[in-house]
Amino acid sequence: MSGYSRILIAVDLGEVSDEVCGRGADLARRYGAQANLVHVVEPVLVDPVYDMMPAVPFELELQHLESVRRQVGELGSRFAIHGNRCFVETGATRAEIIRVAEELAVQLIVVGSHSRRGAARLLGSTASSVLHAAPCDVLAVRISD
Ligand code: AMP
Repeated sequence: MSGYSRILIAVDLGEVSDEVCGRGADLARRYGAQANLVHVVEPVLVDPVYDMMPAVPFELELQHLESVRRQVGELGSRFAIHGNRCFVETGATRAEIIRVAEELAVQLIVVGSHSRRGAARLLGSTASSVLHAAPCDVLAVRISD
């Protein structure tokens, strides 16, 4: 492999997302690669009592998804990632990141990592689980506190 032609940047939409996205977008520019952005929404477990009034949580869920899509789109546009390369998926975070990476056939996944937990727990749980399941290279961007 001579370089990266497709990169997937995974963001949790927290305060470090700009740093993670910036690093991924910068790498994409340097390699002349396509940058893709993904955020995963973990489904909320619905209490069976809501079977009685499903419209309320469904509406809230739709509103939440819409707001998340907007945030992901805004983040993408700040880093020149086209809207149709921004993905919002629902499911288990690690599994969805890996699925999207496989579907897009990326050669690199960029995630954030935390340093404050000390050497033994250098990687966050998502970063660590993505690293172990990934079909490609993984870059864990070290987040300084
Ligand atoms: P954590 O292991 O939760 O500290 O997260 C580390 C990194 O995993 C984040 O900086 C993101 O790159 C990625 N990540 C965590 N949660 C999500 C999510 N819901 N969707 C996409 N990426 C995520």
